[in-house]
Amino acid sequence: MGLPMADYRSIPAISRLRDGAEYRRLESEFGARETIRAFRDAVEAVRRVIGVRGPADQPPRSEEIEASAEALLRERFTYRLRRVINASGVLLHTNLGRAPLCEQAIEHVVDVCRGYCNIEYDLDEGDRGHRDRLLDDVLCSLTGAERCTVTNNNAGAILLILAALTVSKEVLVSRGELVEIGGGFRVPEIMSQSGATLVEVGTTNRTRVQDFEAGVSARTAAILRVHPSNFRVEGFAERPPLTDLVRLANARNIILIEDIGSGYLGTCPSSDLHRYEPSVPDSIAAGVHICCFSGDKLFGGPQGGIIAGRRELVERISRHPLMRAFRADKLTYAALEATALEYRRGCAVNVPVQRMLQQSPESVRRRVAHLCARLHAIGSWSAEIRQDVSTIGGGSAPGLIVPTWVLSVRHGSLSVHDVCARLRRNTPPIIARASHDQVVLDLRTVAVADDVQLEQALANLALSLAHDGGVNLHSERGGAHVA
Ligand SMILES: *Cc1c(COP(=O)(O)O)cnc(C)c1O
Repeated sequence: MGLPMADYRSIPAISRLRDGAEYRRLESEFGARETIRAFRDAVEAVRRVIGVRGPADQPPRSEEIEASAEALLRERFTYRLRRVINASGVLLHTNLGRAPLCEQAIEHVVDVCRGYCNIEYDLDEGDRGHRDRLLDDVLCSLTGAERCTVTNNNAGAILLILAALTVSKEVLVSRGELVEIGGGFRVPEIMSQSGATLVEVGTTNRTRVQDFEAGVSARTAAILRVHPSNFRVEGFAERPPLTDLVRLANARNIILIEDIGSGYLGTCPSSDLHRYEPSVPDSIAAGVHICCFSGDKLFGGPQGGIIAGRRELVERISRHPLMRAFRADKLTYAALEATALEYRRGCAVNVPVQRMLQQSPESVRRRVAHLCARLHAIGSWSAEIRQDVSTIGGGSAPGLIVPTWVLSVRHGSLSVHDVCARLRRNTPPIIARASHDQVVLDLRTVAVADDVQLEQALANLALSLAHDGGVNLHSERGGAHVA
């Protein structure tokens, strides 16, 4: 502040920098607007340093300003949404985007979205079509429903179902199912937003069909059954069998709606999944009138809500004005369609979530052992393999144990926190599990094709640590991008 202007004048002028080849190169890569902004910011940073520390012995050189402007530009043009390698062992990690898409879905999305598509165009008639028609056939064949429609997520699906079928009427829900799903989805709140009136029946741990029976009145429009997907009531607990609810709903002429959450299609007979997750075809076959589930949980497709059920009811839902606000876009339709076709083909294992889930502990062990051997060859890491468990996550099957093998790694004096932070800074970032005093890598959730990248990342990390000749703990916590 108190410095004479002369000291600031030693900073190269922007007008002069603009004539440089370096400036022109960056401008052609990043555009005029951001380039000038980056140079101004770089110059401003130098001014601040001079203001704080006083004039440097050497006046700042153009090259330094150009280099810091380039670093700013690269940082500002780095995607913030990035692919990561999920070594956490949580299959449907909501913070990591839940289900990865199958190759067929990715190709279909790319193909459909590169140009125009018939999302609402009837190719037979050459006239306006309806997006629902595109997936109705395949989704009905997978679920056993008469009609299906799609929304942009399952929360939207429930809101829409209630708004279309139960508005200003009463909906019975068991007190044991008034749950909150991750991300602030609360059944009572969704219900009040929909305009329906919630009537709680039964108790937290035990609700019988008689409780529902007693709750039915002339104002009752529906029973909503919610799969309490992310928690379990153990011990003295009871839920009415679905068939009893179907009988009651039919006898009293009310609609039975089931929010099934995960969208398990019953395609994983080898696992214990069916003991924890209701399957959509089973619910429809049992007589549930309307069933809804997420597209990106066990179904293994894109974010979306799938509504399956009786023709007349689904049509009322898809004609509701709110559908316009909840409808899914063409990317979702494309990914959902390709994923659904893999199930129709009987190739559930092409769907990554299903493949990862069905992978035997032995095959995970082989990959982990291989990685472990490679790390021993690299040296500097201490690594060992051991048994552990993967989890489904995404609010699915909380009690289900999926045995797996993991690699547990340590490096010199680096803390667990520091190793995890360094792995997150890899390209692509690697998300490990911190478990007590160990960093754990579960390969069940890592695509086989990424094993090499994982190994590379660990090798590079060891190399850079050896190069640093020690660990700068301050840089660990900074979280800043390494230019
Ligand atoms: C996950 C889940 C939801 C919310 O689904 P989104 O697709 O995330 O909107 C609703 N109900 C149940 C039972 C769930 O498990």
